[in-house]
Amino acid sequence: MIISVPKEIFPGETRVAMTPETVRAFAEKGIGVRIEKGAGICSGFADRDYAATGAVMTTRDEIWQEKGLILKIRAPLPEECGFLRTGQIIVADFTGVSWLSAFIAKKLTCFALEKIPRLSRAQSMDILSSQSNLAGYKAVLNAAVRLQKTIPLMMTAAATLAPIRVLVLGVGVAGLQAIATAKRLGAQVFASDVRPETQEQIVSLGGRFVATDKISAQLSQTDILITTAQSSRGGKAPRLVTDAMLKQMPSGGVVIDIAAAAGGNVEGVVDGKIFCRNGLTIIGAGNLAAELPFSASVLFAGNIFNFLMPYYNREKARFDFDFNDEIVATICILRDGRICRKGKQ
Ligand code: NAD
Repeated sequence: MIISVPKEIFPGETRVAMTPETVRAFAEKGIGVRIEKGAGICSGFADRDYAATGAVMTTRDEIWQEKGLILKIRAPLPEECGFLRTGQIIVADFTGVSWLSAFIAKKLTCFALEKIPRLSRAQSMDILSSQSNLAGYKAVLNAAVRLQKTIPLMMTAAATLAPIRVLVLGVGVAGLQAIATAKRLGAQVFASDVRPETQEQIVSLGGRFVATDKISAQLSQTDILITTAQSSRGGKAPRLVTDAMLKQMPSGGVVIDIAAAAGGNVEGVVDGKIFCRNGLTIIGAGNLAAELPFSASVLFAGNIFNFLMPYYNREKARFDFDFNDEIVATICILRDGRICRKGKQ
């Protein structure tokens, strides 16, 4: 069984679906890996690093030739569909794909990693969690760089600088990491979520819970606002902050909307764009994990490895996916070109 990893071509995508360490891990199980030259360059993995752990480095044309498994961060784009070979198996994030007919025509089997169910045994395969965690961390760092203030309490001979206040809306995986990161930098952290169980989690990280009806008042003393509510995986993000609410924030504040790719939690936000309004810097940051491509690739590649290996049949040197298994059934969107509903063709 050969696994092939093409270079990502989606604009701004810096991650790669395989690291030199996962090449080694697959090799130990008897699985060969082919990687397109330059595939890891934006993530900090040189071709020689992959070659050193046993990968075969190939060209763009060659990488798609093998019939086996193709691993990608993003599902093949329309401009990559011409490379597809009949019967290939694609494992990737299929968010936003509307060209499934091209995959049906090639009789592909497709596993959509963004649909990994929230089961305990699937946690190690969950790309949304692994990438959201990094996004929460990077959101705080990016906001800190843009803020005109220092973050922690600083008592100096000249004057005392008060700690800044951070408000996190949406306390899932990204929000929890944002709270922890802001705390480590010395901020006073406040957070809100509609799920009552998050109150205890916020407090355990050193934050303070803000009731939904108190968010506007809290904004009037917030230096950094981070919003993270993607809501119902794949759905549209809920609107949490209107223009009128933003006007409450003191001038100089920074707003980072991690849910920007799903429409955003903050009114007027645009994914990938930074603009200034009423003295605030407002950032639509839907793909922050791609700003930490080394770490993000390590986690993404680990998620894929953890998904695949239970199904590897070493004696027959092939993957025998169990389409009755809940994880496979949930994420298999095409099986030999036929649309799957929970594993049924
Ligand atoms: P998410 O990205 O979908 O949303 C982030 C947070 O926003 C959630 O906590 C949600 O409650 C909150 N939110 C939604 N609408 C809101 C609103 N109107 N106002 C305020 N907050 C709002 O969520 P996520 O980070 O992917 O995960 C959320 C939950 O899933 C958590 O309970 C987490 O522990 C759980 N989870 C389980 C697994 C697993 O078992 N494999 C993996 C990851 C996450």
